Amino acid sequence: MNILVTGGAGYIGSHTCIELLQAGYNVVVIDNLYNSSSQSLKHVEKITGKKITFYELDIRDKKALNKVFEENCFDGVIHFAGLKAVGESVKKPMEYYNVNVYGSFILAELMKKFGCKTLVFSSSATVYGEPNVIPIKEDFPLSPKNPYGRSKLMVETYLRDIFLENESWHIGILRYFNPAGAHESGLIGEDPNGIPNNLLPYISQVAVGKFDKLKIFGDDYKTHDGTGVRDYIHVVDLAKGHLMALEALSKKSQILTLNLGSGRGQSVIDMVKAFEKASSKKIPYEIVNRRLGDIPASYTDTTFAEKILGWKPKYDENKICEDAWRWQQNNPSGYE
Ligand code: NAD
Ligand code: UDP
Repeated sequence: MNILVTGGAGYIGSHTCIELLQAGYNVVVIDNLYNSSSQSLKHVEKITGKKITFYELDIRDKKALNKVFEENCFDGVIHFAGLKAVGESVKKPMEYYNVNVYGSFILAELMKKFGCKTLVFSSSATVYGEPNVIPIKEDFPLSPKNPYGRSKLMVETYLRDIFLENESWHIGILRYFNPAGAHESGLIGEDPNGIPNNLLPYISQVAVGKFDKLKIFGDDYKTHDGTGVRDYIHVVDLAKGHLMALEALSKKSQILTLNLGSGRGQSVIDMVKAFEKASSKKIPYEIVNRRLGDIPASYTDTTFAEKILGWKPKYDENKICEDAWRWQQNNPSGYE
């Protein structure tokens, strides 16, 4: 079975390539390396002992992508390629809609042209906006609060309409919560450009000495310790979820929408403590103002994903921090 992985050199994509290769799939990656390095794919090959076919191209380059479809016969596509920084999306909405929405249009058009109708799409818990209640279920109202989230919701809507028109598609929409951690080999992990926006990479870089301290964005939320609560899901668990989604989709034509998260809410302070335990390092921090647009708490109800896929995350916050720390220690400058 041949799988096209768009954005496969990135953080979640590279971990998913490992799971695919280890399960016996052939993997073709397309990525323009805007936010990644082809080194990640070399490391995936080292971990698995298997080869990846890699095309460096922009998903919006229809001619180049058409050629990839001509040269390969795909049984399915996992679509990670996109831009993902919430704050940046407010400043560069055109780029976000162009890459995330237009890029997905091009991909789906070529899939239709070449008769490949199995697609797993990376959506985000951001589509829920600020939920009225937690844990979050898949049928909760959708109300994204920024261009990034809205671009994801647009693609979801587009995919639903494609399916309504032709029910022979097999479409999985996966809404991730907070992916974190790294492969336990220490060979691949998250390698953000510049100053990390996300909590775990920031803590890791404090631990390795790149920053003096963590700034905690607010301690006056109505949560168990006042700091923001999120659902941190180990990236390897998430990657396995993609494989299980592909397998579930192969059984019948359908459109599936699933939340993928750990089902547990952890505060910023909880994660600091878990990281200190994993690294035996003190993580200095100061409390600063709330970050604009942040919500107090978000975590998922895992019941539906478990029922539909038989998927249950295996790793907890301690394992997330142990693996993130191993990756950070082995690669203080990422893939450079
Ligand atoms: P990432 O940036 O590490 O991976 C995305 C990959 O897409 C990168 O390798 C990048 O170079 C590539 N890419 C970007 N624009 C492209 C283009 N125009 N053409 C071809 N390739 C392009 O991000 P990630 O964390 O691995 O996220 C993967 C997907 O999951 C994204 O769609 C993201 O929106 C979604 N997601 C991520 C998170 C998260 O917190 N990491 C949460 C929810 C959803
Ligand atoms: N956070 C923080 N300091 C940082 C980065 C994040 O206090 O440098 C907090 C943030 O306010 C939120 C949680 O950590 O409560 C997770 O933030 P992240 O950006 O990783 O995920 P998201 O908010 O997009 O779910």
